[in-house]
Amino acid sequence: MVIDNYDGYAAITYGGACTINVSAVFLNGDYGDNIKRSFTSLIYHEMTHIWQWYPPMTPTGLIEGIADYTALKAKYYKPEFFARPGSGKRWDQGYSITARFLEYCDGLKPGFLAAMNRKMRNAWILNYFVELVGKPVDQLWREYKAKYAGVGNFTEDTNLGLWREHKDMHCYDAKEETGCQLRTLKK
Ligand SMILES: [Zn+2]
Repeated sequence: MVIDNYDGYAAITYGGACTINVSAVFLNGDYGDNIKRSFTSLIYHEMTHIWQWYPPMTPTGLIEGIADYTALKAKYYKPEFFARPGSGKRWDQGYSITARFLEYCDGLKPGFLAAMNRKMRNAWILNYFVELVGKPVDQLWREYKAKYAGVGNFTEDTNLGLWREHKDMHCYDAKEETGCQLRTLKK
């Protein structure tokens, strides 16, 4: 782990190098006296990026949803910044919206997400939902939305970048992902 005066993101995780870059700007800034809790939540999220599998074609929203799912299960999240069940427009919208949907799927089939992560070691296939939960993901999403109709707090227009507890970026290999070069050191 490297902590430096990065600007723009709270943290960037390089999966290939197993490195988490944490922004000291983030640690000093937005969360005041809740730094320890915010940092712990951040590390749950970023460590998940180190350990999870994300083969080519994996939806970015799923990768981020799995990372937020571990923070959800560990109860290291701010309710006001975290989607309630039933939120969102798409299952792979990302972050806490996807984390809540994965929580629903795991409730239908306990162990689902761990099993899917094991499968993702080799490839990403949308049909994993059928194999593991017994239904296509679109059907699961419709049933999930129906179950929690009117409960969600985040709408389809919610800017997750604004609503998230922390902004981050994951990259498997910094050399291959030009987006990883966007971060800059704060003057
Ligand atoms: Zn992330």
